[in-house]
Amino acid sequence: MSSSDIVVVGGGIIGLSIALKLAQKGQAVTVVDANERGQASYAAAGMLAPLGEAQEQSEFVPFAIKALRYWPAFVDDIKSASNVPLKLNGPGILRVGFNQTEEDELVRTYNWQQHCGLPVVLLDQTELHKCEPNLAPNAQCAIRSAFEPYVEPQLVLTALRAACDRLGVTILMHDTVIGFAVKDGDVTGVRTTGRTFDAPHYVVAGGAWSRTLLQQLDYELPVHPVRGQIVSIGPLPSPLFQHTIFSKHGYLVPRHDGRVLIGATEEQVGFDSSTTESGVDGLYASATSLVPALRKFPIHSSWAGLRPVSKDRLPLIGFLPGRDNVTIAAGHGRNGILMAPYTGILVADSLLKGAVIPDVFSPLRFEEQL
Ligand SMILES: Cc1cc2nc3c(=O)[nH]c(=O)nc-3n(C[C@H](O)[C@H](O)[C@H](O)COP(=O)(O)OP(=O)(O)OC[C@H]3O[C@@H](n4cnc5c(N)ncnc54)[C@H](O)[C@@H]3O)c2cc1C
Repeated sequence: MSSSDIVVVGGGIIGLSIALKLAQKGQAVTVVDANERGQASYAAAGMLAPLGEAQEQSEFVPFAIKALRYWPAFVDDIKSASNVPLKLNGPGILRVGFNQTEEDELVRTYNWQQHCGLPVVLLDQTELHKCEPNLAPNAQCAIRSAFEPYVEPQLVLTALRAACDRLGVTILMHDTVIGFAVKDGDVTGVRTTGRTFDAPHYVVAGGAWSRTLLQQLDYELPVHPVRGQIVSIGPLPSPLFQHTIFSKHGYLVPRHDGRVLIGATEEQVGFDSSTTESGVDGLYASATSLVPALRKFPIHSSWAGLRPVSKDRLPLIGFLPGRDNVTIAAGHGRNGILMAPYTGILVADSLLKGAVIPDVFSPLRFEEQL
């Protein structure tokens, strides 16, 4: 048996962000991670893009914008603890349209974004090509959003682990949770093959594997894996474009080390996190159709991760229905990097101050449908 105040199952960006916040508040935290191949956090592109692909205002957008505001302080916290050179990168995102239908959609999107007071600018074709001359000639218009940067998730994870370590968090990176100990209906421990970890409270942040984990407690979490493949090109000797380019045909993130990330597929293939020839070829083709000059550069590498996607594509954060010493933090889908620091704060404030987590994230919202 090993005792902590809180045991977190899952050491992806969500589990570690929660551990960090709890440890900053003086809690003794143990993180247990299985080191699953296909971890989403390591695979992610790292865009902090609260406007995502939203074509119309959704209830999620204000929370996503709030989440972005926590990032500068989060970077400061984990950077100073770890000496990892972490920063928010890039001049923002261009959401580009390539035909009349896409242009009409972008104009509608721009109208609601402007109505909400968001700092976005609509660029016509001339302005767009002046801004990014290497875009394909048929790029017709774009929304420029300068407030959406990107981070390098692999660096974030390194910094987060170091920051947690400094605060005394115990992080076990090769321990698979195989079940829970339950006594008189209460969860009293999480079991790995060799050990049981006990604590007054447990957090399940197992990403795409959260459903399987919670089945051990007879709970069917509506979260499933969605594979995303990414290709990286380069490094380019000098950048061909500055902005992250978002379109209906994929996205491109120009990293400051000269590589360009091309993302990403969305595939329902269970827990298979391999890359495929057709996935890689499709991404490369879409990248070169967006920026034809990329054709000169070979593929550097490719990888894939499993996004934890919920039934309504929004995260589930809050107490596990029927178990008041188990909290869920899963189902962050395409926005888990963006949402991580905010999720850490929501969970820590809920556990330590009794703060109420916004209804939009409540696991109870699916109860009637289960
Ligand atoms: C290709 C791709 C691109 C993406 N791009 C972006 C982006 O640009 N911006 C953005 O905001 N989001 C992006 N995402 C989404 C984001 O990566 C995820 O939402 C986020 O990483 C989820 O974090 P997590 O900690 O919940 O899950 P994960 O990172 O998957 O972590 C879950 C952890 O649980 C552990 N685990 C599983 N089962 C067990 C067990 N039985 N016992 C112990 N541990 C266990 C695993 O080992 C794993 O480390 C992208 C995702 C992909 C795949």
